[in-house]
Amino acid sequence: MDDCIFCKIGRGEIPAKTVYGDDGVIGIVDINPQAPEHIVVMPRKHYKNVAELAADEAALGHLMAAATRIGEERGADGFRLVVNTGPMGGQTVDHVHVHVLSGRPMTWPPG
Ligand code: 5GP
Ligand code: ZN
Repeated sequence: MDDCIFCKIGRGEIPAKTVYGDDGVIGIVDINPQAPEHIVVMPRKHYKNVAELAADEAALGHLMAAATRIGEERGADGFRLVVNTGPMGGQTVDHVHVHVLSGRPMTWPPG
C-alpha cells in the first residue's frame, strides 16, 4: 500500500523507534504513548484490520505471539493488548496493529 503510514514505516521510508523486528512483524514505540510503555506491533504485510488478518490464521497467531512476548518483556506486573477495529472501535490507522500497553495500572472499562 503506497500511502499507508505503517507500510511506509515497515519499508523504512518513515523513521520509527523500532524495538522488535522479524521477517513477519515489527514493533515500534507509539508516537503518542498512552502508557509509560506503549508499543505498536504490526505485520510487515498490509492487512486493513484484524478481521482481514484472521483469514490468515498463521499470520494472526504470529502477530499475537510477538505482541505477547513484547508485553511479557516490558510489563513484568502485567500488560494490556488492544486491537482497535473500525471507526466505532477507535481504529485510526487502517493497517492492523496490536497496542502493547504497560507500566501503569490499567482501568476497566476502557474509554
Ligand atoms: P489506532 O488508533 O489505529 O488503534 O492506533 C494507531 C496508533 O498509531 C496511535 O496510537 C498513534 O499514536 C500511532 N501512530 C500514528 N502515526 C504514527 C507514526 O507515524 N509513528 C508512530 N510511531 N506511531 C504512530
Ligand atoms: Zn499498510
